[in-house]
Amino acid sequence: MSDQQSRATPDQSQAVKDNIVASRHRLEQALVKSGRPVDSAAILAVSKTKPATMLRAAFEVGQRLFGENYLQEALEKQRSLTDLEGIEWHYIGALQSNKTREVAEHFSWVHTVDREKIARRLNEARPTSMGALNICLQVNISREDSKSGVMPEALPALAEQVLALPNLRLRGLMAIPAASNDPEQQHVPHARLRELFEELIRRHPDAPLDTLSMGMSGDMEAAIDEGATLVRLGTAIFGSRD
Ligand SMILES: *Cc1c(COP(=O)(O)O)cnc(C)c1O
Repeated sequence: MSDQQSRATPDQSQAVKDNIVASRHRLEQALVKSGRPVDSAAILAVSKTKPATMLRAAFEVGQRLFGENYLQEALEKQRSLTDLEGIEWHYIGALQSNKTREVAEHFSWVHTVDREKIARRLNEARPTSMGALNICLQVNISREDSKSGVMPEALPALAEQVLALPNLRLRGLMAIPAASNDPEQQHVPHARLRELFEELIRRHPDAPLDTLSMGMSGDMEAAIDEGATLVRLGTAIFGSRD
């Protein structure tokens, strides 16, 4: 039986609830330390490989935003959680052309758009009855060959293309920086993404650009210090993934 089909034990569900509360506290402290309003960033609970019962536990203590990486796994969990009113699904996984239809039909947000072809397909597949699909453009901020994401110099052109698509709503930028345990080093890519975001806002003052999706369990404080509005926490909430 795959992990996402298995059930969480009562202890595991309680641990998720405790971790949500602790993560909120951690986020609040980071915001205060950075001189930011305590409501200026939110937590996206990254639940890949974790069973639906754990998401339900998180929902029970008020978590509403969930991020999933693997389409089929996400669709299964969505089917078993249809009773959770107000839950919001964010797709944060790699995006190939053959997945765009289902992503456009089953998610409120996509954080991983990095090329025009994918954007066009999402735009075409988005049911108008659902309203516009919220988009973050993924930037390859550490310029790693192995990572997806648009290169910083190609970002302005991609943003213009996405802004022209009526069924997409460009909300901001997302990045997965090269991992570092050094808090000083962790600031560098996050600061760079913030600069790109500010530049984008200057170019498009009328666009609804309000989201900087950056910071994970290991570098949330640096990301918040550089202006993150949505931190994507997996391990800190659901424990390690095997
Ligand atoms: C898995 C994942 C996360 C969460 O990472 P943690 O280090 O477990 O908090 C965040 N963002 C993306 C895109 C991921 O794939």
